[in-house]
Amino acid sequence: MTPDRMLTPEEARAAVLDHVEILGPERVSLLEATGRVLAQDVLVRRDNPPYDNSAMDGYAIRHADITQASSETPAVLEIVEEIPAGKIPERAIGPGQASRIMTGAPVPAGADTVIAVEDTKTTGSQVEILCAEERGEHIRQRGEDMRAGEPILNVGTECGPGEVAVLAAVQQSFVSVYRRPRIAILSTGDELVEIEETPGEGQIVNNNTCALAALCIAHGAEPVMLPSAKDDESAIRAAVLSALRADFAVSSGGVSVGEYDFVKKVLDELGATNIFWRVAMKPGKPLAFSIVEGVPYFGLPGNPVSSLMSFLQFVRPAVRKAAGYPEAEWPLPEARAQLENSVHNDGERRQYLRATLSYSEDRLLARTAENQGSHMISSMLNSNGFVVLEPNQHMAAGDIVTVQIVGRIF
Ligand code: AMP
Ligand code: MG
Repeated sequence: MTPDRMLTPEEARAAVLDHVEILGPERVSLLEATGRVLAQDVLVRRDNPPYDNSAMDGYAIRHADITQASSETPAVLEIVEEIPAGKIPERAIGPGQASRIMTGAPVPAGADTVIAVEDTKTTGSQVEILCAEERGEHIRQRGEDMRAGEPILNVGTECGPGEVAVLAAVQQSFVSVYRRPRIAILSTGDELVEIEETPGEGQIVNNNTCALAALCIAHGAEPVMLPSAKDDESAIRAAVLSALRADFAVSSGGVSVGEYDFVKKVLDELGATNIFWRVAMKPGKPLAFSIVEGVPYFGLPGNPVSSLMSFLQFVRPAVRKAAGYPEAEWPLPEARAQLENSVHNDGERRQYLRATLSYSEDRLLARTAENQGSHMISSMLNSNGFVVLEPNQHMAAGDIVTVQIVGRIF
């Protein structure tokens, strides 16, 4: 790969992913597995349900006793026991007998069917069965959900609440998941003050560090926020070296061709292997991707929107790969949407236009933000997607375009 050639976003993403390995596993408690990817297979330890039990409040009976039952000619049975959930039945059901049973209680020996209480009439120690159910009705069979010894979850599965429910049911209190990458975040620029400081003349608030940290959290990484560094070679070198203690390093600013853009210079001096430094996209053309002392280093542009865009297009896939997600979930999800306004790309680079995606009946609609300037932080509000426009592509309202989905769609 020649670093001087401007790569397409796809080539750049592939080049990044070539240099990212899946991280090792760690053991976490069951709840902490939420949102993480399993690094182990999970087996069922005990049949579920663990025993035949009742799906209804009603009567456990022998089907042979009620085959002719109806409201006109009820089957009359003798009640021999009451079985609440958690109780072990003491009496087997013989011909002409029934036990009152609650939902979840074990079905007594001899019974093969449960009649819901609504279909019965109880008088003293006798119950009238008012309808003939199928044999086995309202009984949950042992093992019909999960069988002891069978694999129920596999390596590579993302744990949502449903998976956590299954892990709890199979008594997996700790589970092995892939580590989340730790990402060092470093903003560079003489003009930056931290968010709690009062900006002087010519200074601006460093919002990229927090924005990139929030992106890390939202996409499955652990941010390590470093103090921002001045545009000074030795300050940047020291900051880059401390960033290399993480799994990935991400910096913002200092990667374009300005006189004070020292990041690339420092990377060269540290013997970095530079993979590429420009991508044919807007926003986000300057992007230095290097391997420094074995650590993938993303030198993102300083403009807030550009750094966010570059993170989503390139760092997010790296995060997802490292954290063990299936390949289809590395890049942002894409869909087709109908434009609500016209859009134009007169340039030579792919454009990602911030847009509001919404549903209208059965259609996905996309309305692009009016101001697409890469310094327009407020345009990130209400943007839950990007319209993808190829070079020289012109689309009218009503046309169908590709969109990337970055937030919830209402
Ligand atoms: P640079 O890539 O360093 O040339 O920065 C491009 C633009 O982004 C400049 O207007 C910077 O002031 C701005 N910028 C750089 N870093 C940050 C930051 N951490 N927070 C907010 N704006 C920034
Ligand atoms: Mg700068």
